[in-house]
Amino acid sequence: MSKDFSDGAAWIRGSIVPIAEATIGVTDWALTHSDVTYDVVPVWEGAFFRLPDYLDRFEHSMQACRMDVGLSRAEIEAALHDMVARSGLRASYCALVAARGAPIIPGSRDPRECANHFYAWCVPYVHVLKPEVAEAGARLLLPDDIHRIPDDSVNPRAKNYHWGDFTQGLFAAKDQGLDNVVLSDHAGNVTEGPGFNIFALKGDTVVTPDRGVLEGITRRTVLELAREAGLKTEIRALPIAELLQADEVFLSTSGGGVIPVSQINERTFSNGRPGPTATRLRASYFDRLTDPTYRTEIAYEPAPA
Ligand code: PLP
Repeated sequence: MSKDFSDGAAWIRGSIVPIAEATIGVTDWALTHSDVTYDVVPVWEGAFFRLPDYLDRFEHSMQACRMDVGLSRAEIEAALHDMVARSGLRASYCALVAARGAPIIPGSRDPRECANHFYAWCVPYVHVLKPEVAEAGARLLLPDDIHRIPDDSVNPRAKNYHWGDFTQGLFAAKDQGLDNVVLSDHAGNVTEGPGFNIFALKGDTVVTPDRGVLEGITRRTVLELAREAGLKTEIRALPIAELLQADEVFLSTSGGGVIPVSQINERTFSNGRPGPTATRLRASYFDRLTDPTYRTEIAYEPAPA
């Protein structure tokens, strides 16, 4: 009987299995130390979007974390293709993971003595904020008692599982009936949120933070779209006060594109509705997802007769 991949698939130890069958060991530092770097590439209408850019970032992250998973870029790319093709998913959240692995010498506390390994998994497309929240404008908490972990403690440019700050922030936001959280650093600059970058629009200038953030691939797409729309763009420190004085605020993520923000703490933007520029950029992002220039088509397996 053919296996059921409708919930997703994983590529692990060289095999493709239904997502529920993919496991890693309990002594893997991925689990015991959150010692993982990963990436997530969107699959949209049967193609990867900007795959070379996501692979570049993943390779950079592995180097930054001093991980060697023993696979070439071509082998990783082939694993992703085979896995998504087998899953049959035409819109997917496709994660690629480099894990520190279990100690080769049992009990070793030396990070050099772990068996680094690669795995990947894909599930139906994930919206970091639900589409109805994006359509209404997201309401965010920017807490003054929870900060983004300093970037000399955890490198935010290497996508990672150190989510203690974000999880605490998400609980605080949900406790207040808000949709999500965005964190500042200890110097009073805005950073990012759990799974997204942030932008402030003032006049014809879009600003996004340069520090304490993952360099989002969607952020890059948004900056390109903004310039094409005749806006000026700036990548620099974004003080909290400047964010709160913006005309419009919006988020960017591979899980849902551009998300207008209608409220941060007590401050509402665009009369509590998605702003016109954010709304236009959201539509342009979805258009770009189907632009052949950025697509790597997936060769799906034909359905069994
Ligand atoms: N910042 C963090 C912490 C993230 O985890 C993500 C994505 O998951 C982003 C920003 C947005 O990056 P991208 O646009 O590449 O999805």
